[in-house]
Amino acid sequence: MKKISILIPCYNEEKSLPLLYPELVKLMDANSAYDWELMFVNDGSTDGTLMELQRLRQQDRRVNYVDLSRNFGKEAAMLAGFDYVTGDCMVILDADMQHPPTLIPEMIKWWEQGYEDVYAKRKSRGRESWLRKRLSQMFYKLLQRASRFEILQDVGDFRLLDRKCVDALKKMRESERYTKGMYSWIGFKKKEVEFMQGDRVAGTSSWSYRRLFSFALDGITSFTTAPLRISTIVGFVVSLCAFIYMIYVFIKALIWGDPVQGYPTLVVLILFLGGIQLLSLGIIGEYIGRIYNETKNRPDYIVREFNGENVSAKGNF
Ligand code: UDP
Ligand code: MG
Repeated sequence: MKKISILIPCYNEEKSLPLLYPELVKLMDANSAYDWELMFVNDGSTDGTLMELQRLRQQDRRVNYVDLSRNFGKEAAMLAGFDYVTGDCMVILDADMQHPPTLIPEMIKWWEQGYEDVYAKRKSRGRESWLRKRLSQMFYKLLQRASRFEILQDVGDFRLLDRKCVDALKKMRESERYTKGMYSWIGFKKKEVEFMQGDRVAGTSSWSYRRLFSFALDGITSFTTAPLRISTIVGFVVSLCAFIYMIYVFIKALIWGDPVQGYPTLVVLILFLGGIQLLSLGIIGEYIGRIYNETKNRPDYIVREFNGENVSAKGNF
């Protein structure tokens, strides 16, 4: 019997879980031709999420949970899930019911036909502000231009991945994670299915604008070095102009002499060049910061317990 794992990262989802779990039970009962495994990752929730998971585990052995030692963010929580799932394929699902479990049978159908990465594209983004929609649109356009990989808009983590994809993703242990880009980086046979995304059933989205901005920056820096190249090109063009202007000033001074003039030009030039230099330094700094984080080579997450057992004896992944 083939085994299907469902990976659900949870951060303060005590109110969503009682709504989500019955849906999953319905799904599992309707598809009893498969073995099922639910893998919840408690990403350092500060509410009763862990208690809720423990309760579910007691009444249903298909429920598994990984309890992280603090909030590591969804990306790291998903990696923890990749490490712990044992199925022949894995579906990643948000706990807030924005990803309808009813789509999973269709995904499985495509998987059975040989597709290795069946991703869900949302048709409606649910209730989201106009600004957020525009910003996200701009970001994906930018990313698409700057990197060689196709990173799709309106496609998130809701997808079914074959064991081969999971194993490939497990090998990518970078600490500045941008999983959305990784799905396209690893390749494999992809298939698109569509779904309507509703609103969160309970709680609030944990993505503030600040967090989204840093997520966008991570996306760019982990999949392209184009900003570095742009800063090189801008630097080159600006210094070329400055050089030509220098020759012009030099010749002018030789022919007509140089009464003290041109103070505004000077100030403008200094400010402009200074600005460009700072910008380039900033861009380089972004990358160096990431190199620094990678070289520390820290684990991407720390597990407190798995299904109530202490795992430190066995060693972390
Ligand atoms: N999540 C997580 N760790 C975090 C933030 C979010 O595991 O630090 C989980 C959250 O519980 C949910 C999923 O990631 O299952 C998506 O989060 P959310 O609904 O807040 O994001 P959005 O739907 O707004 O993108
Ligand atoms: Mg959500």
